[in-house]
Amino acid sequence: MTIWGATDLPEISESGSRKLLGRLRETLAEDSAGQERLDRITHLIADSMGTDVCSIYLFRDAETLELCATEGLNPDAVHQTRMRVGEGLVGRVARAKTPVNTPDAPSAKGFRFMPETGEEIYSSFLGVPVQRLGESLGVLVVQSKDARNYSDDEVYALEVVAMVLAEMTELGAFVGEGEGAMSARHTQQALFRGSVAQEGAAEGRVYLHEPRVVVTNPISEDPHEEMRRLQDAIDTLRSSVDEMLGAMGKNTDKEQVKVLEAYRMFANSRSWVRRMEEDIALGLSAEAAVEKEQSATRARMEQVPDPYLRERLHDLDDLSNRLLRLLTGQGSDTGAEMPENPILIARNIGPAELLDYGKKLRGIVLEEGSVGSHAAIVARAWAIPLVINAKKILTEALNGDPILVDGDQGVVHLRPEDAVAAAFRDKIAMQTKAQERYASIRDKPAIGLCGHEVNLHMNAGLMADLPSLDSSGAEGVGLFRTELQFLTRARVPKRSELAAIYKSVMDAAHGKQVVFRTLDIGSDKVLPYMKPQDEPNPALGWRAIRVGLDKPGVMRMQLQALIRAAGGRPLTVMFPFIAQFDEFREGRQMVLNELEREKKLGHALPEDVKIGAMLETPSLGFAPQQFFEMADFISIGGNDLKQFFFAADRENERVRKRYDTLNVSFLTFIEQIVKRCQDAGTPLSFCGEDAGRPIEALCFAAMGMNALSMRPASIGPVKSLIRRTNIAELRDVIDTARVSGAQSVRPAVLEWLSKQSTA
Ligand code: PEP
Ligand code: MG
Repeated sequence: MTIWGATDLPEISESGSRKLLGRLRETLAEDSAGQERLDRITHLIADSMGTDVCSIYLFRDAETLELCATEGLNPDAVHQTRMRVGEGLVGRVARAKTPVNTPDAPSAKGFRFMPETGEEIYSSFLGVPVQRLGESLGVLVVQSKDARNYSDDEVYALEVVAMVLAEMTELGAFVGEGEGAMSARHTQQALFRGSVAQEGAAEGRVYLHEPRVVVTNPISEDPHEEMRRLQDAIDTLRSSVDEMLGAMGKNTDKEQVKVLEAYRMFANSRSWVRRMEEDIALGLSAEAAVEKEQSATRARMEQVPDPYLRERLHDLDDLSNRLLRLLTGQGSDTGAEMPENPILIARNIGPAELLDYGKKLRGIVLEEGSVGSHAAIVARAWAIPLVINAKKILTEALNGDPILVDGDQGVVHLRPEDAVAAAFRDKIAMQTKAQERYASIRDKPAIGLCGHEVNLHMNAGLMADLPSLDSSGAEGVGLFRTELQFLTRARVPKRSELAAIYKSVMDAAHGKQVVFRTLDIGSDKVLPYMKPQDEPNPALGWRAIRVGLDKPGVMRMQLQALIRAAGGRPLTVMFPFIAQFDEFREGRQMVLNELEREKKLGHALPEDVKIGAMLETPSLGFAPQQFFEMADFISIGGNDLKQFFFAADRENERVRKRYDTLNVSFLTFIEQIVKRCQDAGTPLSFCGEDAGRPIEALCFAAMGMNALSMRPASIGPVKSLIRRTNIAELRDVIDTARVSGAQSVRPAVLEWLSKQSTA
């Protein structure tokens, strides 16, 4: 089935635009140098459109546009006249990414007179952006002496030509040699500033998570054939969306259905398809028509403040990508070989996808992403440097490009110059030295100068993490995230499989304690094979222990697997996300029941069982004292606790960064939990990501926390700082800062520490 009848296809006539594109194709096919091509193109456009002037301005660097070719303006101004984005009418087109069309340029808003060009005699001005996938590459301008308003058809035709120029620019058609010549795109060094999500430095080669579609034939030879290709691709796209919708059962998450319905609506959108048809009628190939529409959508995306509308525009962008892949025959596989030392570049990535790549990645750079996401936690657990919010890196990076990731500063150097790469290698060497220093204190205790001892444990989630237990010097595993085993599978693992995994983990720990946290799913940890929930706010929804108690099947199976894996050895179990006493009591009773059941079945029981709770919601800090007495131990899940304490989503960078972990209110709350645990004689630890940040770890220790659990690579730096610090004195510094009215104790702590190191 097609979505338009043959009769309502736009008319394909031998229009001026098509003739122009035909001549353009001939020019591009000729074997000529970049500058010569640009000169011929401006001549061709002015001639075909009957204008006095045609000029092409391209970006010399990120902020500067340069007149690169002209028909009609003073030729001496070529490569001399430059303007910044937003400056003059040309700069305005580049900034707004929309055409400027005026019969009287000198009186138009933003006009700037460029005397060297001799343009004062031209009254009318039409400028259109040269853009590719929302990225501005330059501006195409026509001007005439008479004060005319260019017609809609003329604007449209010029936009189509600009689209071809954009593709040709991307393909390097205007690259030349010698002074003033344009250099090829994607060959220059580029720097991206993002945010730190995992420290460390990595050098490697780009590996794109999703393919970058390249259009090599922007101009069509046969519009009828191009219409047919577009029609076929849209038919295929539509049926695939229909199939996806059909495959959704009654229980499918409503949000997911809504997204796909919006997809279907777009795929059926007459105006979307119509615009692409019109572009083809004017001479573009089907791919170029799709990309032209996609560019317009991306430009709109930047302007739209409403998040819902932006999401919908994202859908449309995604549809265009699918369409492009269908038309170019490029699947979702990048087709690229994974290079040695791969650095993964993606818009965003989920924990399951990241786990699929495994530890072979040397670094990760995301255009979006967030520090609190579980993908970030996986990257941290593997000590893979991760930079997030690296805007526009996807428009620049090509598979195989050399790249340096500076996870300490949140900076990424793409195609670095030799001097930058050399300095970077020095930095890596220094870090290796630091690691060697940490290795030298591996078997020493984390005791402060005042004699205060802190037990350092590591967080884990995969078998592959266990070798770090010895190499890091951790005293045990303070948090084993069991959900990672579930996230890496296509179905619920069997009890026997789980028992085998847990047994190997305990075997590898050689008698050191492993705290197994029962399944913590929900929120951003969505299992592909579990019925998704239609929840407006999953972080506050049906997750973790709430699922375990309401639908006990999986948790019981997990507990049985743990008991069998222990095979008589001590067993430590902890429940995530306990918000009130009863939840702990019920969970604990489940363990006791399973022990009873396993005994009856003749399995060996653990010689000792410890049952603890994670304190991840403020409510539990105020639970009855009996809770603190009943729990064998308590571990503060700071990632969640902090997000609920400050009501700031751990995955939303904008709000997360407002609240410092060393905020006086948060530290005071922690102090209160320490006190309640001390009164009950219950061991307390902290296992959120902050435990692995040396300054935070030091302050937690000063607040009375005697056990911290962190990613293995943090143990060295944390231990090293603890051993050099008088924690009792630090407590005085914190207390003084607390009564001073400061919002955070960090400035006072940093100042005090800096004096210690210079003393
Ligand atoms: C926490 O919330 O601090 C925690 C350790 O659990 P997770 O990060 O897995 O939610
Ligand atoms: Mg948590």
